[in-house]
Parts: sequence; structure tokens; C-alpha cells
Amino acid sequence: MNFHLQFLPNDDFLIFHYIRLPDHYGHFQLDFLLLSRCFHLIMEVKNIYDYMNFDEMGQAYRIRNGEVELFGNPVEQVKLQHRRYLNWFRKHGFPPVPIEKMVVYSRDDTYLRNITNDKSISDIVMHRDKVLPTIESFMKLHQSPLISEHQLMEFSYRLLEEHTPEEGGGINVVYQELVKGVFCPECSANPMWWKGGKWRCRSCGCISKTAHRPALADYALLAGEYINNRQARDFLQVGSNSIIRKLLQGEDLIKIGSGSGMRYKLDINRLLD
Ligand SMILES: [Zn+2]
Repeated sequence: MNFHLQFLPNDDFLIFHYIRLPDHYGHFQLDFLLLSRCFHLIMEVKNIYDYMNFDEMGQAYRIRNGEVELFGNPVEQVKLQHRRYLNWFRKHGFPPVPIEKMVVYSRDDTYLRNITNDKSISDIVMHRDKVLPTIESFMKLHQSPLISEHQLMEFSYRLLEEHTPEEGGGINVVYQELVKGVFCPECSANPMWWKGGKWRCRSCGCISKTAHRPALADYALLAGEYINNRQARDFLQVGSNSIIRKLLQGEDLIKIGSGSGMRYKLDINRLLD
């Protein structure tokens, strides 16, 4: 898909891949999201080989070795994504923009069969070769900019702020290899332990009030620039929720979200100051 999308006019679209947003029902993930000043496009990508049939009941299936294999209805799936995205969009108070959607079968060897020639299916479901011409037709359909460049950027930042990568995603591979705990600034022993409002080194007896700061900067660089209380407890090897809250709040970090979803934005430059 990336290959095909690179042929789009660069200045017109911001392209997001695997953006995952929180909503009332949990999280929803968009395979691709294209933003322009005129419209947004949600793209669901399927990677299924052989052929795919769509029947009059909206069922998607293929037959292999005489057995029917059923798949979730991709049209309903992308419509649901659309609804959730629209709600999210409204919740953040951005001016309305038309939202288009498509389901793309990304493999060359997939053969799509719309058995009953249902237009609601053929409008949305397509082979990847059709993606560019379809986007071009959307561009013709939605020609007038509805938001400013500035609003588009603001919206993109909001998307990235709210983006919550799935646990167990790529980041955690690195995360598991990180040495957790706070390092002693004097002798580099690990971990220091927190007692009486200070970090204490068991090896050299060094006492520090700020030894967690380079650890948090490491976290930002290697695991991600947002951290919640649970992640900080794990990474700094401190059991107490309230101690971590105090430590993080003491750093005067930007807070995002609320309640159990609250995260802190780690500012590397300030932490290493
Ligand atoms: Zn030490």
C-alpha cells in the first residue's frame, strides 16, 4: 500500500498508518488514514490470497478444498470504523469534513467476486490497483478546502497525541531488552531504591533526588515519549502508585488524558538538563 500511496500529490495529503485511538468502547485502529483539507479517507487493508466472494447477504467468503471459509463483512467493518472515527472527530470539536472509506485487498493474487453486483460493495471494496484512481475521484468530488492548513496540522497533532500503540507491539520487543531501574549517578549500580523521598545506592551509599530523570529520558528515547503510572512503576522499579505520581508530577510534565488513561509526556531535553 505504501508503494501505491507514494504517487499521491505530497502536499495534499497527510498519511497515517496504524493509528489507534481510544473511544467509548475501547480502541479502534485504522490501517491507513489520509487527511487533506477537503476530505478524510479511512482505508482498511486486507491481505488475503485466493479469491473472495461477496454475496447478497453481505457475507465475504472463499471456498477452499470444498469448504466454505467465512470472513467478517469488510463493508460493515469499515462502516463501523467510520462511525467511531466520526464520533472521535466530533468529540474533539473539529469542523466537519467529508469522510470517505474503502476496503483494499492488497495482494496481487486476490480475485474479488461481487456475486450480486451490489453497488454498495463495489463502491467500497477494491483491489489495490483501483486505489489511486478512486482517491483521484474523491479529490474531484471534494475540491473545496473546508479547514485551514493550520487546523489540519492541529488535528494531526491531536491524532498523534491520542494514538495508543497496542501493548505487545513493536515497542515492547525493545522494552523487554531495556535494563529497568534507576542507575546510581556516582557508581552506575542498578537499581537504586527510593526511600524517604530520595534515591539511595546500595553499592556506594550515594543519595540523589533526581536520579530517575535520566531513566525517564531513556524511556522516552527507547520506548516512547508517553508514560503512564503503571509503566513508570515498572520501569523505575518502584511499587507504589503514589510515589510514582509524586515523582512524575514533580517533573512538571504535560499530562494527557484523564483517570486511568492519563499519561505524561516526557520532555527529553528538560529531563537531561
Ligand atoms: Zn552508587
